[in-house]
Amino acid sequence: MTFRSPIQHCRACGTAVVYRLPDDGDTRQRAVCPACNTVHYENPLNVVGTVPEFADGRVLLCKRNIEPRWGKWTLPAGFMELDETTSQGAARETDEEAGAQIEMGPLFSLLNVRRVGQVHLFYRARLLSEQFNPGYETIEARLFTEAEVPWDELAFRTVKETLEHYFADRKAGQFGLHCIDLE
Ligand SMILES: [Zn+2]
Repeated sequence: MTFRSPIQHCRACGTAVVYRLPDDGDTRQRAVCPACNTVHYENPLNVVGTVPEFADGRVLLCKRNIEPRWGKWTLPAGFMELDETTSQGAARETDEEAGAQIEMGPLFSLLNVRRVGQVHLFYRARLLSEQFNPGYETIEARLFTEAEVPWDELAFRTVKETLEHYFADRKAGQFGLHCIDLE
C-alpha cells in the first residue's frame, strides 16, 4: 500500500516518457512516449480486505512483517489481482496474511484515499476457528477485544476508520455500509 512513483520509461519500447497532454483531446497530463506515441494511463488501485470476527466478538489483526509500517497492526488486506472479484481478493488476502478460516460476509467499508490513488474495500467475515497460520507478510496474527486494539499502533488510517465504525455499529446492533473520503 505504497504511493506509486511516476512512470519513467515506455512499457512498449523502453524510451524515456514525457508528461504532457496527449493529442487526442485528453485534458490530463499523461506519460507519453515520444518514440512510439504510447499513452500510459494511471488509475487508482483497489486494496481489498476483511474485518474477521470470532464468535466471542474479538477481531483478528495482523502485525506487519513488511514495509511500509513494519511492526504495525492491520486488518488483513492487500492489492486486488486481475483475475478475481473484490470479495475473492479480500478472502485470499485473509488466507495469505493470517491463514484464517473464514466465511465471507457483506461489504462494510469503502474508503477513497485520493492522495495515494487507492480505493480500500473491507468486507465483514466470520472466523470459523481461532487457529491461525500467518504467511511471511505477518509477524503475528491474534484476536483483540475492542479495548485491547492497539489504536496507536495501527498501520493505516483506513484500518482505524473501519475498526471504529465496526465497533460503533456492533454496539448499535446494526451494521451499515460506510463510504468515507480520506485525503
Ligand atoms: Zn514507446
